[in-house]
Amino acid sequence: MSPSSEAPAVHLPTSAFTTLSHRCAGLGEAGIEALREAGYRAGAEVLATLGDAPAEILSEEFWVRLGAAFTRAGLGSVAFEPVSPVLGSVQWLGSVEAAGSQSGGKVESCHFAAGLLAGVLSRTAGRTVDVIEVRCSGGSAQPCWFLFGSVETLRGLRPRLGEVRDSIERIPPETVGR
Ligand SMILES: [Zn+2]
Repeated sequence: MSPSSEAPAVHLPTSAFTTLSHRCAGLGEAGIEALREAGYRAGAEVLATLGDAPAEILSEEFWVRLGAAFTRAGLGSVAFEPVSPVLGSVQWLGSVEAAGSQSGGKVESCHFAAGLLAGVLSRTAGRTVDVIEVRCSGGSAQPCWFLFGSVETLRGLRPRLGEVRDSIERIPPETVGR
């Protein structure tokens, strides 16, 4: 089970990437949209390195393979937890976008990361999967937390993001990095 393809890649120092992402995010909606779009494209490339991984985003094997691909790409580590039949959560430890961002505890701070997850999950599921970051690590030792589900499901969640973040803070991040 070797990787099916590797796209040409450029390896940036982490500081260069974080500077670029923070400057883009500071430009407002257009910059945020650009970060999500770039992340979405990167997600497709990460997915291509998985080879014949299962096309079922709720399977444990898919997340083990995806976590290994993230680590290989220097993206940190991810762990999946189901929340409900229509909602999943991802704890992302070491999102380089969060480093030095002063975003600890905030919602929707790692835009590239959210786009990347949306790209991976949408392509795998064969339908649009939306992703929202509900708690950002701000570069601390804690993970960033993302929720994913259908566009309709997450649209219903958006008005309550602060409430969701507060409930997530009570869950220990014990599943990250396994
Ligand atoms: Zn974050």
